[in-house]
Amino acid sequence: MWISIISLFPEMFKTIIKYGLIHKSIKKKLLNINFWNPRDFVKNKFSKVDSPIYGGGGGVILKAEPLIKSISKAKLEMRNNVKIIYLSPQGKKINISYIKKLLSYNKMILLCGRYKGIDERVINNFIDEEVSIGDYILSGGELPAMILIDILVRQIPGVLNTMSSGNTDSFFNNGLLDSPHYTRPRIIKNVKKNTVPSILLSGNHKKIKEWRLQQSLGMTWLKRPDLLRKKKLTKKEKFLFNKFKNSYLKNK
Ligand code: SAM
Repeated sequence: MWISIISLFPEMFKTIIKYGLIHKSIKKKLLNINFWNPRDFVKNKFSKVDSPIYGGGGGVILKAEPLIKSISKAKLEMRNNVKIIYLSPQGKKINISYIKKLLSYNKMILLCGRYKGIDERVINNFIDEEVSIGDYILSGGELPAMILIDILVRQIPGVLNTMSSGNTDSFFNNGLLDSPHYTRPRIIKNVKKNTVPSILLSGNHKKIKEWRLQQSLGMTWLKRPDLLRKKKLTKKEKFLFNKFKNSYLKNK
């Protein structure tokens, strides 16, 4: 996957490139990230990348020309089949099906806005899709772009150690939440709920798989009932879920 980022503050991305899965996928050549700064496309160092909005009311937006030049340069380098995405609170909210669609684009340009946003003519003429991370306003598109890259990278084949570790994560787990996980020690002293469910120590993989599915159904019911309502349960899932529900209500 090749991602070009257009941002006034490319330095903000330094940390995510240095650590974790993003770093690993760059090293493995599964991901290529490069940057274009609109400041490099203004006439001289005294020219500005932003300008007050027409009609008054206060605030500045990013001017069209430096953005258009950045997009053109990035596109020239990336050649064909590039999707140009503007991180915007007015865009389509990121969800699993949208991420799956984005994964089919191998080349993307992510445009990060700042201030009150960007000149609308850039959106109207150059942007393929507007993407939002949620119904709230951040100061710039850099954090949303980082979030999007992190989500995408986890889904690139070969990035996670085993694909199964990604497939059982919440939402990717057939629309359910992940099951609870435990690690050493078996008992934590001076803590009330201190033991590990014995099934996880049994070595019976079939039973463990069943327990995890049951817990996923139960956790989704408790924490995100909206997700469970959307899901059509199989006969076995219904059975496991009812068992979870009855035991939960009995012990409540
Ligand atoms: N005036 C704009 C509006 O109300 O639609 C908001 C501008 S915001 C302060 C500055 C930049 O941050 C935007 O151009 C966009 O790139 C980014 N941004 C802010 N909130 C976002 C969100 N929820 N999702 C994606 N990008 C966001």
